[in-house]
Amino acid sequence: MAIERIVDPTQDDDQQDEEQQRIENVLRPKSFAEFIGQNRIKNNLKVAIKAAKKRSEPLDHILLYGPPGLGKTTLASIIANEMNAQIRVTSGPAIDRAADLASILTNLGEGDVLFIDEIHRLNRSVEEVLYSAMEDYAIDIMLGKGPSARSLRLDVPKFTLIGATTRTGALAAPLRDRFGMLHRLDFYNPEEIELVVKRSSGILESTLKGDSAKLLATRARLTPRIANRLLKRVRDYADVNGNGIIDTEITNRALELLEIDSAGLDPADRMLLLSIIDNHGGGPVGLNTLAAVLGDETSTVEDFYEPYLLQLGFLKRTPRGRTVTSKAYKHLNRAEQKSDENNKSSQTSLV
Ligand code: ADP
Repeated sequence: MAIERIVDPTQDDDQQDEEQQRIENVLRPKSFAEFIGQNRIKNNLKVAIKAAKKRSEPLDHILLYGPPGLGKTTLASIIANEMNAQIRVTSGPAIDRAADLASILTNLGEGDVLFIDEIHRLNRSVEEVLYSAMEDYAIDIMLGKGPSARSLRLDVPKFTLIGATTRTGALAAPLRDRFGMLHRLDFYNPEEIELVVKRSSGILESTLKGDSAKLLATRARLTPRIANRLLKRVRDYADVNGNGIIDTEITNRALELLEIDSAGLDPADRMLLLSIIDNHGGGPVGLNTLAAVLGDETSTVEDFYEPYLLQLGFLKRTPRGRTVTSKAYKHLNRAEQKSDENNKSSQTSLV
């Protein structure tokens, strides 16, 4: 069984109870001005939006990719706002059949935005309907079955598709090629995450004192969704164990209770790294073995555990498998066992 994680960036806060959902909605930036960081993408999008508006044309289709929790859904709704358009939000696995997509498309208004999260999980027959919709704003529907079946071409409103995916590699090339703009969202830097924490605490009317914002920023895996989630948990802790003020000490105590260490690693991350160190001499280890250790899918390990560990420089992907780096050994307080390869390279560097 997979481990439940406070720092799981995929756990969608929108799925939670009504109060959580309300908080999530108030925290979500509504305009580019409120959206912190990702400046290159914002600038590109602003130009594209301006140009489309000037020409009174729908915006080109956009593919947003990168690890979860970095703001893909948020950006899509900001784009729709800026285009004065409605947004329809759905996801790859939610569109079962070509007819479901046809119904969504024919119900869109002119210029509307269709946001498909996890677009790499669309099935082939649905994807094919999407091709002609994206290219020609028309879809071919099959009427009837067998020899009497015939195809009917239907126009759909001129819409903008915004697709989001954690992995572009999993996207069929013909689909990828039909996007006019492809943007990769990168992890934020700690200063930007600190701004996210401060912005959110302002909206939630909680007081942050001392180093609390900085502390939260270093633990949030450089991911806004996790920054907000940690802030909410620390705020709860401050309400229950203090007078509601989030100071350095309260923050440290709450983070300790959540078992998140100074690098933002949670017990599952540590288990992953330690199992490579203790059971496989630091690696290389195959992806399947790691997935078995964590009781998760290989795609979960690849998409959700690894990106942050790679970003930290704690893990390396090599053609033979994953290896743990010296930096991770140091962080986990383990003596590094040098493999032959490591010894060789350190000897050469001494010459
Ligand atoms: P994704 O679609 O990439 O998984 P979301 O767009 O759902 O991520 O973002 C998760 C949460 O993080 C949002 O609800 C929003 O409040 C917050 N968030 C994301 N990006 C930013 C940002 N750049 N500035 C401020 N808050 C952000």
